[in-house]
Amino acid sequence: MALRTVREHGDEILRKQARPIKRFDQALQRLIDDMFETMYYSHGIGLAAPQVGVPKRAIVLDVDGVKLALINPEILGSEGEESSTEGCLSVPGVYGEVKRNASIVVRGHNPDGTATEIQATALLARCLQHEIDHLDGILFMDKATQLESVTASEADGA
Ligand code: ZN
Repeated sequence: MALRTVREHGDEILRKQARPIKRFDQALQRLIDDMFETMYYSHGIGLAAPQVGVPKRAIVLDVDGVKLALINPEILGSEGEESSTEGCLSVPGVYGEVKRNASIVVRGHNPDGTATEIQATALLARCLQHEIDHLDGILFMDKATQLESVTASEADGA
């Protein structure tokens, strides 16, 4: 495993449409392993491949004890609305209120190529929507209201 560099806002890869993954091979498994390592190292709860410079449709998450890697995720259905504060490893120090669907159903593949379907609510649903947006070049600030910049010292004090 290896840490990868998290790309930050202003890097054009974050604004590109990521490509579907067709080969479920060793290279994909290595990418997923590296994404988990990079996410944990950065104290994130989710990471999308474009954030580590790979324009492909893969995301990883670890939310409330649910650890997931999803390939080519697609939202099949959604219900309700919820507003909550979000941040992003690619936009350090910035937070904002984002309205998301409260519950969603997502279809995709596991890294080994098997199909999977996930029903998610609350923070897991929010995180999935945030990461899937990354695959379409969308950042949370595009949807956020009340954006706030927090310096490291302020964040530590809060
Ligand atoms: Zn993000």
